Amino acid sequence: MGKGSNAQKSQQARERNQKKIGKTDEERKASSDKAKKDSAAFMCKICRQTFMVNAKPSLLYLHITAKHEEKKDDPTACFDSLAGFDPEDPDGEKKAPCTVAGPVKPKKVVKKDDDLSLLLDAGLKMGKKK
Ligand SMILES: [Zn+2]
Repeated sequence: MGKGSNAQKSQQARERNQKKIGKTDEERKASSDKAKKDSAAFMCKICRQTFMVNAKPSLLYLHITAKHEEKKDDPTACFDSLAGFDPEDPDGEKKAPCTVAGPVKPKKVVKKDDDLSLLLDAGLKMGKKK
């Protein structure tokens, strides 16, 4: 008996919550459709594995090299979106004008060291003055 009334209570609570959110069935359906679409924005044409809408081309290409290595020269066999994909520049970063060739230096660490040595210098000079 107690169980039944609990179930009814939680059913009522659910209905209250749905009213609170203020979404119609259509809105809910639309947002779940969108979520479904987003979570399967890319689908491998060979094995039908799906990828999130925010998957980078490099991730899709990784799938090809991992699962369909014979297609790595023809990535569009798996994903249409990989047309013109350059394995040497998977995310188009080399094309970015601000990217300079060469290793990226950990600027923050260097700066911190500079600041520290400047502080030490300043400290030493102040110490000498006194
Ligand atoms: Zn696949």
